[in-house]
Amino acid sequence: MKTIAYQKCANAACGSTYEVTQTLTSCVKCGELLDIRYDWSKGEVPRTLKSFEERWQRRRFPLDHSGVWRFRDLLPFAADAMVCTIGEGQTFLQNATCLGRQLGMWPGQLYLQYEGMNPSGSFKDNGMTAAFTHARLVGARRVACASTGNTSASLALYAAQNGFQGIVFIGTGKIAFGKLSQALDYGALTLQIEGDFDACLRRVRDVSQQLGLYLMNSVNPFRLEGQKTIMYRILEGLNWEVPDWIIVPGGNLGNCSAFGKAYEELLELGLVKRAPRLAIINAHGANTLHTAVNRLGMTWNGGHPDNSKIQGLYAGMDEANYHPHTVASAIEISRPVNLIKALRALDVMKGVVAEVTDEEILEAKALIGRYGFGCEPASAATVAGLQQLLKNGTIGRNERVACVLTGHGLKDPDATVHYHTGIKTKDAKQPAAEPTWGSRANKPIQVADDMPSILKALGMAQDTLDKTVPTGYVETPSANLPFVEY
Ligand SMILES: *Cc1c(COP(=O)(O)O)cnc(C)c1O
Ligand SMILES: [Zn+2]
Repeated sequence: MKTIAYQKCANAACGSTYEVTQTLTSCVKCGELLDIRYDWSKGEVPRTLKSFEERWQRRRFPLDHSGVWRFRDLLPFAADAMVCTIGEGQTFLQNATCLGRQLGMWPGQLYLQYEGMNPSGSFKDNGMTAAFTHARLVGARRVACASTGNTSASLALYAAQNGFQGIVFIGTGKIAFGKLSQALDYGALTLQIEGDFDACLRRVRDVSQQLGLYLMNSVNPFRLEGQKTIMYRILEGLNWEVPDWIIVPGGNLGNCSAFGKAYEELLELGLVKRAPRLAIINAHGANTLHTAVNRLGMTWNGGHPDNSKIQGLYAGMDEANYHPHTVASAIEISRPVNLIKALRALDVMKGVVAEVTDEEILEAKALIGRYGFGCEPASAATVAGLQQLLKNGTIGRNERVACVLTGHGLKDPDATVHYHTGIKTKDAKQPAAEPTWGSRANKPIQVADDMPSILKALGMAQDTLDKTVPTGYVETPSANLPFVEY
């Protein structure tokens, strides 16, 4: 296929370019990450975002069914026949007015982009479909990643469905059983190695290079191309109106980087008039971006960020033998590989960075759950961050906000059960100060196997059964049932 795509070094001082058919995860000349770029003037670019709606009528065609590939004109690096899709991206922007009201926001202004609805249960599928498409394009057979869980689940799923051998490296840090179970079930060769995620990724980058495995971590620029489409679907959910804020958790910083790239291109193509602002939320126990931006003052600086600052920070971490620690295992990362690209995203989208504690994350997760949206702890960092940014006035109560719920609630049921009951279902290193259960705990009630005890537990009077209830409907007092506060 004649392609308008090429790869380009993200370091403005270098700017080396490579063919789209090359398999690289960093610039050969300077070591910085690569971007996929397009020579839009030589291609066919849609005139309006609304024109993508025509694809809905051709949903029986897999590429038009996919929530990633129906936007393929905005990531045109592969011929249609190369695409590895399993119908990812059937995710929707959910209006969360009740949750928003609880946070003090104006009605109709809070939205949740529910990426847990993807085939493997996290947003990673958006990126994996694109990276597997490139892997097929270059004839790779074996694919590998380091993972805190969701990348390996997604890789294993796509490998199994598309005839690749999947190899996943997991560290000794926490991995939620929901995620591990997926990698095992989909038949990925799973290697557990000594060290945290950061060490694991360093190792797998090296191993992949030496053994010629195709690397699927977010250093792979094709992953980010697929993840851009989360921004397109949020626009679609708002009838192509740009929201005021996008809020996303920050781990390895691939997702926020993809969002920034999406808007950089939409602006360049004239498909939107402005970008929303971006809020990236770190966990306090894994807050490298927060430190780099808010304490060290790092900025994109026109493509020339001051790398000595981050090198100094990492040297200090090494010296202190620092390891990240947070209940939000998907963002338990202290050396985010996409840091430079994240600075660029903050620049394009006039972004801010905040950090939240594990307690704030778990309380926010319970609140999200209480309004009927399941997510894993890392995803709940968005709402915890939103609470903080509303409180300190960064985000206005009348502004329109979309939080990206990155992973499904069933990924990490241990965190949820522990929050509600205080019971740990598997051994996790928890700091001693952590409360036994959360403030919104919905504890199961122990009840004897007899009618009076059950009536008592339901808050019903003992004579309830004697009363004639003609409609067959018993009005229950709500005292002991979960409550909704306004
Ligand atoms: C991977 C992941 C993140 C972090 O995304 P990055 O692109 O690494 O910043 C957040 N939440 C969930 C559920 C994830 O799986
Ligand atoms: Zn370079």
